[in-house]
Amino acid sequence: MATDDNTTSLNGIGVSPGLVAGPVARMAPGISEPAVATLPAEADVETECERIAEAAQTVKKGLELSAAEAKGEGRTLLETTAQMAADPTLTSSAQAMVKERRLVPERAVWEAAGSLASMLESLGGYMAERTRDVQDVRDRIVAVLTDSPMPGIPRLPEPFILVAEDLAPADTALLDPEKVIAFITSEGGPTSHTAILARALGLPAIVGAGTAVTDRLSDGDIVLVDGTKGTITLNPSEDELRRARELANRVRVFNGDGATKDGHEVQLLANVGDAAGARAAAEAGAMGVGLFRTEFCFLDQPEEPTVEAQVEAYRGVLEAFPGKKVVVRTLDAGADKPLPFLTDATEANPALGVRAYRTTRRDPEVLEHQLEALAKAEAETDAKVWVMAPMISTTEEARAFTDKARTYGLKTAGMMIEVPSAALMADKMFEHADFASIGTNDLTQYVMAADRLLSSLADLSTAWQPAVLRLIKAACDGAAPHGRPVGVCGEAAADPALAVVLVGLGVASLSMTARALPDVDAVMKSVDLADAKRLAELAIAQPTAEAAREAVRAELPILEELGL
Ligand code: PEP
Ligand code: MG
Repeated sequence: MATDDNTTSLNGIGVSPGLVAGPVARMAPGISEPAVATLPAEADVETECERIAEAAQTVKKGLELSAAEAKGEGRTLLETTAQMAADPTLTSSAQAMVKERRLVPERAVWEAAGSLASMLESLGGYMAERTRDVQDVRDRIVAVLTDSPMPGIPRLPEPFILVAEDLAPADTALLDPEKVIAFITSEGGPTSHTAILARALGLPAIVGAGTAVTDRLSDGDIVLVDGTKGTITLNPSEDELRRARELANRVRVFNGDGATKDGHEVQLLANVGDAAGARAAAEAGAMGVGLFRTEFCFLDQPEEPTVEAQVEAYRGVLEAFPGKKVVVRTLDAGADKPLPFLTDATEANPALGVRAYRTTRRDPEVLEHQLEALAKAEAETDAKVWVMAPMISTTEEARAFTDKARTYGLKTAGMMIEVPSAALMADKMFEHADFASIGTNDLTQYVMAADRLLSSLADLSTAWQPAVLRLIKAACDGAAPHGRPVGVCGEAAADPALAVVLVGLGVASLSMTARALPDVDAVMKSVDLADAKRLAELAIAQPTAEAAREAVRAELPILEELGL
């Protein structure tokens, strides 16, 4: 849409709130496979082999320099990749192909990397995980040999807005949040890895913008990104830039006292995946943990972790919240989070398959070991452990899981509500479950029959869908006669306007990335419980998700004030 001055506004899906302005830096596209070509007759084979060795050296040095500047996981990743670039296996087998088949160096490197990757893959376990590093090194060497831009996140001295097709987990580990001030991606949906990461880092983000939009953004263009509205403004006005600067300088904190304006307590909790995340959440004022995704501790492990290793991982999280509630979810393996030791990678429809609690049909002892480890970790700390199972679909599963958890001495046992059947059967579920936490990411996926990772279905994949809100109401209504608390731990809890609606529907606690706590708290403190109930009724009565969102946002002027 063009406006009256030379300002142009483009649209994507806003997935992480905030307003910032800055220069665009595009992530170089992936390296495409070089054609099978042979060297011209006059080319000197020795010189071409030397070029391969030099390119590998250049890549190794570049990675070492970047590793020296990086921190934490990013540093380790870069160091491992640099080691791979220094390993002579890849270069010598590429050189052999140049000598024996007169292949052009870039093709030789590509094929040599292909053989090395297949070999590592066949070894399985840790070695198989190195395949990605081989591909990364391959792409970098080919980039040097063909004089193409280096793949990966650009390294620039000044802060910038990153524009990419999508961000792979390996890219995001290398991301420096002091340099990257917002993301715009052409692909990805609201619950994609990129969107979740942006919220965790507190960076405004727009995903699923499509290439028609991202192709209009060139390196160095100054753009304004509104992560709430999902708009990208090219050539923003002075006023817009001033407003973005004011918001960037604003610091808001959460004091650990979540409540509505009239004092109705709303527990504001954190979603965490490990001990470091739990400590950061405690510092951010979280009143406890509403979702500990235990599978995040073991995503790269080929074998079931021992009970001792589990105790260690769980203890680290529990220790960050002495005296506070920590809701621990048992392994949610499958679909977007496969665990090699628990899920079957060959299923045709993994999101509908033997995943999450259903894995106990095949491997009941894995759950037993986890409950044993959790009970031990609880005994060693002062946290109040609440345990829940993911993807409970029937009352029988709710009964079996909660009974089992109690036999291990875990006193508060509940379930996630992520499958529509669980919400519809809530009154019966709470005859067994002490509490429930609604996973709105999956609940939305299953109610709307829309893959949560697909950007092309993003309009369906939102918990603003009145059908989703009606199921959340059904869950809360089912819990009320039993006096059981219902929380929300999906991404919906981090949307301040939706958070108000959830509380109005009867939700007692909201669990989110720790970064979202101050915004949700500020908006919650601007309404009375009666207002929240009225807004919940308003949302549920709307015919569409867009109408629900707009009707509620129009009643919450504080959102505009805070730039949310
Ligand atoms: C959810 O589905 O909303 C949820 C919290 O679980 P996850 O995102 O880990 O599937
Ligand atoms: Mg889920």
